[in-house]
Amino acid sequence: MEVTEILNLLREKREEDVDLISRAFEFAKKVHEGVKRASGEDYTTHPVETAKTLARSGLDVPTIAAGLLHDVLEDGDTGTTENTIRKEFGDEILFLVQGVTKLGKLKYRGEERRIENLRKMFLAMAEDIRVILIRLADRLHNMKTLEYLPPEKQKRIALETLEIYAPLAKRLGMGKMNSELEDLAFLHLFREDYLHTKELLKTRYQAQEKILARVKYKLKEELEKNGLEILAMDSRVKHLYSLYKKLREPERDMDIREVYDLIALRVIVKTVEDCYRTLGIIHQMWKPYPGRIKDYIALPKLNGYQSLHTTVFALDGNITEIQIRTEKMHHEAEYGIAAHWAYSESGKPKAGARINPKLSWVNQLLELQRDAKQSSEFLDSLRIDFFKDRVFCFTPKGDVIDLPEGATAIDFAYAIHSDIGNSAVGAIINHKFVGLDTVLKNTDIVEIKTQKNKKPNPEWLRNVRTSLAKKHIRGAIYKEKLKNLE
Ligand code: MN
Repeated sequence: MEVTEILNLLREKREEDVDLISRAFEFAKKVHEGVKRASGEDYTTHPVETAKTLARSGLDVPTIAAGLLHDVLEDGDTGTTENTIRKEFGDEILFLVQGVTKLGKLKYRGEERRIENLRKMFLAMAEDIRVILIRLADRLHNMKTLEYLPPEKQKRIALETLEIYAPLAKRLGMGKMNSELEDLAFLHLFREDYLHTKELLKTRYQAQEKILARVKYKLKEELEKNGLEILAMDSRVKHLYSLYKKLREPERDMDIREVYDLIALRVIVKTVEDCYRTLGIIHQMWKPYPGRIKDYIALPKLNGYQSLHTTVFALDGNITEIQIRTEKMHHEAEYGIAAHWAYSESGKPKAGARINPKLSWVNQLLELQRDAKQSSEFLDSLRIDFFKDRVFCFTPKGDVIDLPEGATAIDFAYAIHSDIGNSAVGAIINHKFVGLDTVLKNTDIVEIKTQKNKKPNPEWLRNVRTSLAKKHIRGAIYKEKLKNLE
């Protein structure tokens, strides 16, 4: 485990980048010295693997450094470490490391109604989108070494991965991360189904391999004859979990021959124009399967995915899916939002000028939403504008409570339960006693102090934002009045 493993993945090795990453590596190594992973390996392998994932997806150097440092605040003398990180690595990296540490406290324990809140919570921190990317890279390595943990923990982490992390990666357009996380979770949650699906795929793939090689050869020949430059051509196999989900759809009833996009040929060409030309040439060679031509270049998917898809009756009527895209589209399909860094003015902010991931990210989403307004998919889309005026706070147990901006501890109390609201006397926010009218901020940890036979104060009506709290306060006041009349 050497720092060069990370450095070799950088697109350009500038002196200051090498220096920063090397220092972060040494720092992590020192903090985790003597600590072992459950696998028996040195703990440092974990931050190194996390950083490698980030470097591979082309992220900026501070993010890679923060990936190396992401666990140094987890335990130990936090106060000193925070100050040391600031001193050694500056505010930006400290901010990222703190963000990752905070997100790590979020735990999903299988409560259905919290899933959506948890996902939203992650996204509400979209201004720190890099924090999410570090967390995903961190989770990927944890999933790869999950077998060393006790079975109970394996299940919890795998479920959390499937319910929270993988969908998040998908929404961020990170196809590679999404499929890796899903397959690892699949293995640990439904081992038998996993093995069965894998076997099905293997058998089918072997049967298809030869014909596919012929299709590929023929296609290449034809494209070249037409003067098209092919940058790459390979076949991608559907990942196991997505295959499994498809097989279980009633119309397929576990028959793998009904899955037409099991193996798709992927053609990478230079320009958008070449994409359409390629499609035209393919349709002249082989008849397209009706209803399966998709132009995701003109109409990208909500997560930004772009490609042309077609399914054709290739040689001897073999139904084959072909995907056509440019190199940039390919990179974006694999790395999603992370690809942003690779394509923004050589990927590096100029001295002093910071990349503002929040802005481009929000804009990108809003644009996608605008395009999608007409379609039914709109409802499934990611409403970042909705999250903008929401605040997400934790209960001391780590549950997430979703409130409108400007909400106070009183709103929080009523969001948990009307009895908690009605008998609230004070709040502890981030371990400090404060008044109930305190306005909450994202990621505040809120505990409500209650007292028996307490009544809500009518003044509270001026300090709440949620209609739920208003309703309960009015109700309690009204009840009190009635009682006094008796
Ligand atoms: Mn970690």
